Amino acid sequence: MEHGVLSGFEAEYRRRDQTTFWAEDYVNIIRDEDGIPLYYEGSLIDITYRKKAEDNLRQANKALETAHSELQKMFEHEQGLARTDSLTGQTNRRYFFELALREFNASLRYQRPLTIILFDIDGFKQVNDTFGHSIGDNVLMQVARSTAEQVRDVDVLARYGGDEFIILLPQTNAKQAFLIAERIRESVAATHLETENSGLAVTLSIGIADIRYNPKDEMIEDVIRRADQALYQAKRNGRNHAIVFKEESAN
Ligand code: GH3
Ligand code: MG
Repeated sequence: MEHGVLSGFEAEYRRRDQTTFWAEDYVNIIRDEDGIPLYYEGSLIDITYRKKAEDNLRQANKALETAHSELQKMFEHEQGLARTDSLTGQTNRRYFFELALREFNASLRYQRPLTIILFDIDGFKQVNDTFGHSIGDNVLMQVARSTAEQVRDVDVLARYGGDEFIILLPQTNAKQAFLIAERIRESVAATHLETENSGLAVTLSIGIADIRYNPKDEMIEDVIRRADQALYQAKRNGRNHAIVFKEESAN
């Protein structure tokens, strides 16, 4: 109580019959002419209803917060599913293009390097035919896992479709991407998937192409098209190859 005055102090009081109520206290000190305290004068205002209303509001707010965070979680889960390839757990094609478009525009604006790696499993039809579709699915998962281990967090690895995967590498030129592609190719080739009868070696053909400023690429699809041509070249060169797109080798 500062200077003998109490204003708006809230406390819970107990009546003689043991019931309780909340009240706001106001206390004033009454002094004589010389400033000597004579007595205290005060009042209590019953604020039980206000307290109850505040409590209810707090509870309602808490329930709202819980509902909101559950909705948010559900939304993020759904969003994750919509962006993910269900078999490999990697980014799906649709979300890849959303991210790639953003990165492509930023790279063009600031003239930053950007590279696309596109690869396809060699002779995958044969894997399905020989070992069955579910072993084929395992191979796809294994390839995705091995590849994911070789790329940085900023790179976007996505299932492009069927047995084709694509990687967007921001701030990376074709020469640097070639080294990464070689690492991916070697790590996948070194993974032997056990089947019922034998080990199964899987190889990749890889095409690499980077963004162009002169003449300027119009769309990310321009870069992907060149990577696809390099991939085709790798297939023609006997597969299990990584090739960087070159104009003279294009057809
Ligand atoms: P190439 O070396 O020329 O690439 O020969 P390939 O046999 O791999 O030919 P291609 O890439 O055209 O074949 C892709 C095969 O992938 C065909 C399709 O049946 C199979 N495939 C596509 N999606 C899936 C999938 O989700 N699971 C499985 N198990 N197979 C798939
Ligand atoms: Mg293939």
